[in-house]
Amino acid sequence: MRNVDGNFETRLRSELPEDVFRDLGPRYLEEPRGLFQATDGLLLAPRNVDQVSSIVAACHAACVPVVPYGGGTGLVGGQVMPSEACARPVILSLERMNAVRAIYPDENVVVAEAGVIVADLQAAAEGVNRLFPLSLASDGSCRIGGCLSTNAGGVNVLRYGNARGLCLGLEAVLPDGRIWHGLKRLRKDNTGYDLVNLLCGAEGTLGVITAASLRLFARPKSVGTALLVVQDPQAALDLLSLAQEQVGEGVSAFELISGTGFAFLAEAGLGGPHPFDARPAWSVLIELGLGAGLSAQDALTDLFAAALEAELVVDGVIAQSGAQRDALWKLREDIPLANRHIGAISSHDISLPLSVIPSFLCQADAALASMGLFRVNGFGHLGDGNLHYNVFPPKGHVKREFDGQVAAIRKVIYDLVHQFGGSFSAEHGVGRLKADELERYGDPVRLAAMRSIKSALDPKGIMNPGVIFRAR
Ligand SMILES: Cc1cc2nc3c(=O)[nH]c(=O)nc-3n(C[C@H](O)[C@H](O)[C@H](O)COP(=O)(O)OP(=O)(O)OC[C@H]3O[C@@H](n4cnc5c(N)ncnc54)[C@H](O)[C@@H]3O)c2cc1C
Repeated sequence: MRNVDGNFETRLRSELPEDVFRDLGPRYLEEPRGLFQATDGLLLAPRNVDQVSSIVAACHAACVPVVPYGGGTGLVGGQVMPSEACARPVILSLERMNAVRAIYPDENVVVAEAGVIVADLQAAAEGVNRLFPLSLASDGSCRIGGCLSTNAGGVNVLRYGNARGLCLGLEAVLPDGRIWHGLKRLRKDNTGYDLVNLLCGAEGTLGVITAASLRLFARPKSVGTALLVVQDPQAALDLLSLAQEQVGEGVSAFELISGTGFAFLAEAGLGGPHPFDARPAWSVLIELGLGAGLSAQDALTDLFAAALEAELVVDGVIAQSGAQRDALWKLREDIPLANRHIGAISSHDISLPLSVIPSFLCQADAALASMGLFRVNGFGHLGDGNLHYNVFPPKGHVKREFDGQVAAIRKVIYDLVHQFGGSFSAEHGVGRLKADELERYGDPVRLAAMRSIKSALDPKGIMNPGVIFRAR
């Protein structure tokens, strides 16, 4: 692997317009948790797929690494290549490929370039009375190309699936610079291997996504949100079953919030007013979205009554207005910010079969307690089995004091996740952060197949080296 040098840059400047070459600001060298840091790179921001193709072909010819860059919000270090791996890679930002190319409301399809911010895509869909359901706390800054590349999840996976499930077709530049024109708008296309599924979740290791055709949905006519207090995670799961029995697919979000999460919000001065007198140990933010002629408010009132009767919930509040709904969501969406304020020793984005989650939480808490005094905030997208199980120092201490224990904590948690049949990465990807875990917990036959795919498509290994697989 070679660094960008003067010759390479001069050759590229002779092929591409001047405005593709950008000043490298610090945001391209850092990632949100500060775990990976780059020092340099040649920042290129092409305007179209042909320019992406020229850049990647030049990198392929010269063996220069390419780091695709979307919104920079990824949480596993995929968008930042530390200088030990390569001092000066090409950083390929898709930020100027940000056009919504076409919307087909009758087909429920939108075709968007990779650099479109997710919130803008949601707004474009709303403009034609449709829903683009990918929704995550970073959606004001993450870009659809980055979300597809990490197969992002968020709060609506329970009902609408993850980013991969929303993608019908792709336009992409393969590692040798060839353009794959795959922007189909088909829901059925059984014509061999599925490159869409391969590139989604590849975290920039198999090529650069430049545009995607994506599914849209009818907008629910009636939306209702409630925060319900439950005794424990098992009661939360029983409440999910009850909600699904009562309103079926109408349950669009089902988020677990722990008492520690509320305590952290208070400590950080975030989240806004608290709806209960005392901080509940466990609660669930539930959202229903129903069709015409149905009232989500009524459905939530019925659910609340039935759950009280079944002793699954002990308290709760149903939002009576848009402002109250926003206030409830703010509690949930500020939790990652509060976590950052406290400073996690180690964060774990895990998924588990639903029924084992209560046992996992008990065993993980007990295992950690045997290692020292920690605070745990286990919260997240319970409805789809995805928890963020994050470990923090006790009050009055800072995470730096526990640096020596990070590796042991991660191993204890991920070993347990593995034993319970779960995944060490639910929605953030593998990136550079979890490449060792993939080696440790990945099925060897699957890993061998993945390596064969990587070396078939990218024999020189220029695409985002060190991501998913450790750099050799
Ligand atoms: C506050 C906060 C909340 C979050 N909440 C969630 C959540 O609820 N659910 C969730 O899933 N994630 C969440 N994330 C993580 C993050 O937002 C997602 O991983 C998102 O998908 C990353 O998109 P991005 O555009 O910022 O990509 P980047 O961070 O720029 O890149 C991510 C990866 O994709 C690659 N990549 C980027 N663009 C392309 C492209 N066009 N072609 C090929 N490869 C590319 C990069 O090389 C990198 O490996 C959160 C992050 C933050 C900071």
